[in-house]
Amino acid sequence: MNAPLAARRLPTHAAAAPGRRRCVAALFSTLLGGVGAALPARAASTPTRADKLVLADAEWKRRLNPAQYRVLRDEGTEPAGSSPLDREKRRGTFHCAGCDLPLFSSDMKYDSGTGWPSFFSTLPDAVGTKTDYKLILPRTEYHCARCGGHQGHVFGDGPRPTGKRYCNNGIALRFQEAA
Ligand SMILES: [Zn+2]
Repeated sequence: MNAPLAARRLPTHAAAAPGRRRCVAALFSTLLGGVGAALPARAASTPTRADKLVLADAEWKRRLNPAQYRVLRDEGTEPAGSSPLDREKRRGTFHCAGCDLPLFSSDMKYDSGTGWPSFFSTLPDAVGTKTDYKLILPRTEYHCARCGGHQGHVFGDGPRPTGKRYCNNGIALRFQEAA
């Protein structure tokens, strides 16, 4: 008799517990629903520069050609004078070749005479920096703020108004001419 009794009581108990869980779940669902409802509107707007793009290495290898991969994902440096963007003079925007984030505008560009596209500033929040010691003396490496792709090094011998020289690999950029 004990077993059937226990068996009869179980459904009652089991029914009550999920009921409580449903209440809690409904509460969370309501809370999350509020958040979830806000997400599509945000996603539909233009992504901010800080929206990260994180891909597996194999996916970067698939998306980029070997020369782009070597610079963007392995911090390589293209030969000086090898990029047509060094001589680019049209009005427009220079985008990251990895994720298309706009990094520089043409009015930030100047001829540094180095053979690499050079800029005295970047678009707001477009790049992050770190110190690298590849050439023993410390240099400031900078990279795309969205995908982390290596772009170049920044030096303190640029023109006014900033005095900075963003020495960029042309192969890590895509030029978008102004409409
Ligand atoms: Zn990028």
